Amino acid sequence: MIRLSKSVIDKDEVIAVTKVLLEDGYLGMGKEVGLFEEDIAKYIGVESCNVVCVNSGTAALHLAVQAIAKSGDEILVPSFTFLSSFQAISAAGVIPVACDIYEDTLTIDVDDALSKITPRTKAIMCVHYASNPANIEKLYNFASANKLRVIEDAAHAFGCSLNSQKIGSFGDIICFSFDGIKNITSGEGGAIITKDVEILELVKDSRLLGVIKDSEKRYSGNRSWDFDVLNQGYRYHMSNLFAAIGRVQLKKLDMFFAPSRIKFYNIYHGELKNIDDIAFQVTESNAYIIPHILPILVKRNKRDSLRDFLEKNNVQTGIHYKPNHLLSLYYKEEINLPVTDRIYNQILTLPLHPNLNVDDIYKICNLIQSFLK
Ligand SMILES: *Cc1c(COP(=O)(O)O)cnc(C)c1O
Repeated sequence: MIRLSKSVIDKDEVIAVTKVLLEDGYLGMGKEVGLFEEDIAKYIGVESCNVVCVNSGTAALHLAVQAIAKSGDEILVPSFTFLSSFQAISAAGVIPVACDIYEDTLTIDVDDALSKITPRTKAIMCVHYASNPANIEKLYNFASANKLRVIEDAAHAFGCSLNSQKIGSFGDIICFSFDGIKNITSGEGGAIITKDVEILELVKDSRLLGVIKDSEKRYSGNRSWDFDVLNQGYRYHMSNLFAAIGRVQLKKLDMFFAPSRIKFYNIYHGELKNIDDIAFQVTESNAYIIPHILPILVKRNKRDSLRDFLEKNNVQTGIHYKPNHLLSLYYKEEINLPVTDRIYNQILTLPLHPNLNVDDIYKICNLIQSFLK
């Protein structure tokens, strides 16, 4: 079976984790997490105080939402995203307002978002779907014209850049995920990056049960005993074990992970671009993209039969994503998202991870070509 996605781990990560286990013996949030934050900051091009590591991308989004909105507020978000984006919003008591996407870029439709603004709208959460940071300038113009905060769900876009600037080095509040199959993994994990000092203080405290200014102490192996708490917090801090994995993975991103993801992406595009029934997402032309997933659009109702055919030939595929407005928790009769509904019937995700080889990709492309002929 050719797998859709996979964590790519070898002995380097094992050695790093073993070192924390045997030499340091402190598995919670300590020095290693501080070092991972420094490494990320250096890689992205921000100060290390701007990076806050947590135990998942969902936690990063939840803390970001809680820092800028309160119960009953609304956040504009594309329905076409991983469930996490929606759950992170509703976890804070905030209402996710499902928006449509552009048919070409598959990212949030700013005009549709504009039509859904109310006095309670606090922010827009964009999703860099399939690592495509599309229309960011338009989005930030829209946000500032309407006095909205921006949360970038950049779970797919770690290492990507726009106009030669890394995602996370500019913008308002940017959230990354390091779950098992993302561009880099820390086992589980995530990070918030922002230059807003108030937000930084809030999210640093709220990842440690809201205990005021505990983060700095943790880096040096201490903690607060006589403390105060102002805000609701969570056990969302990253552990030293996960940070050790993340630090090794980060070193491999530009050398190994990115080149193979990009190589496979290019083969897929080259081999499939002339097939009538297949279309690709349109990506931002001045972006550097390390593709996290490889979605194609399969026209004329052939998606499900192609998917079955690939499955029978031992090729695993996925559907990223089932739109959130179709889930009972978020369903409302008045929600009408025609592009999202159409794309949902066409979207198919093909295998993409650094452990594949060129022959696997050609085999998949040949199967698709033979089926659609
Ligand atoms: C993976 C992902 C998340 C959540 O990250 P976790 O680390 O799995 O919690 C959020 N949004 C999108 C679009 C994702 O793909």
